Amino acid sequence: ALSTRVADCILGSKESWIRRMFELGRQMRADGGGPVWDLSLGNPSLEPPELWREAVIEALRDEPPGMHRYMTNAGFPEVRAFIAAREAARFDLPGLEGDDVTMTVGAAGAVNVMLRCVADRGDRVIVPAPYFAEYDHYADNHGATLVPVPTGREFSLDLDAMDAALRADPERARVLILNSPNNPTGAIYSAAELDGLTKLLEAHRERSGRILWVVEDSPYRDVLHDPEADPRVEVPSMMGRWPNTVLLTSHSKDLGLAGERIGYMVISPEAEGRALLRRAASFANRTLGFVNAPALMQRVLPKVLGAPGGRVDVQVYAQNSRKMADGLRGLGFELPEPRAGFFLFPALPEPLRRPADASADTPTGDITLTERLREQRTVVVPGTAFGVPEFLRLSMCVDPEAVDGALSAFRAVCA
Ligand code: PLP
Repeated sequence: ALSTRVADCILGSKESWIRRMFELGRQMRADGGGPVWDLSLGNPSLEPPELWREAVIEALRDEPPGMHRYMTNAGFPEVRAFIAAREAARFDLPGLEGDDVTMTVGAAGAVNVMLRCVADRGDRVIVPAPYFAEYDHYADNHGATLVPVPTGREFSLDLDAMDAALRADPERARVLILNSPNNPTGAIYSAAELDGLTKLLEAHRERSGRILWVVEDSPYRDVLHDPEADPRVEVPSMMGRWPNTVLLTSHSKDLGLAGERIGYMVISPEAEGRALLRRAASFANRTLGFVNAPALMQRVLPKVLGAPGGRVDVQVYAQNSRKMADGLRGLGFELPEPRAGFFLFPALPEPLRRPADASADTPTGDITLTERLREQRTVVVPGTAFGVPEFLRLSMCVDPEAVDGALSAFRAVCA
């Protein structure tokens, strides 16, 4: 009854580990028997700020007629102009205009709009690994091939590996997705890494003569743990470095609005074919099935973004991450200092990994540990879900007691 591609995704080998673990947690809760410490899903646990709630009420109370009708597919012009002004200031790109902004159905919608605009069948979409698992499906939606590229120490960019990926089939290299701060690893690419990458892209352009689009998928860029940190310094960007950059983001995480589906894409004013890409984005935003970003959410953004109280206070995520990271390090896990977002991606201590001489059908350490934690009513995602065995992914957007409960479970099975 289904297409083979979709049947494989929902029934077969590609069925998502994350979804499987989330369902497991749900089943365990339904079965009763005490609390379940579920660290499987990155579903923001903080409520949107009070200011957002007031802005929604105000937007409904004071609205002129026609606010719920179809609109220009790219979104309300005044909202796009507002976003453009913010992004122009952030990236010091004064030429950025409202027409460079397309309001989208979350960052997920924006990635699909961008791929629809620029990727032909068989084009290569390069991505540092491990990566947000949905990219596999997004590339597949557009007949493109996702090309994972290994990363270096603490999941920093491996420029040699990146260069090799660009050289492998230069005619088909079309998109490079950069997700920083990263889901699942938490890595933030440094200015030096991005400068090195820019040099590679310049050399690639010389060789291939083809535009390679950098798609910066950045829904965690404003979920920084240090409230004093300047995101411009803390989270360097390819905007202003590489002309053919498109930034995608959403307010699923920093405003806690994942269910409201509001995001946007911003074309660098330096992009080649900028005017065509603007038109293509508007076309794709309509023809992929979502038609435009939700109207009410668009109208609320200018009332909230940049205003005092206009962001969730992510200190709970920061404190959870720190506590869990310290606890895990005490048990021999290795992981970088958490700085942003709400995922930890610890490497298993040596004794918990599959021994080098074990047979291939012996489960890797992350799978074994995931099962043992489950017995302690703790749900995590094994690194295998991201193509990296011997790691775990832990979501820290949970109540603090879930961190305490999960740490007790880790101590019970690892100590
Ligand atoms: N990109 C990354 C890296 C994500 O982690 C997520 C959500 O978890 C998304 C995109 C999708 O976010 P949105 O809710 O804005 O569609």
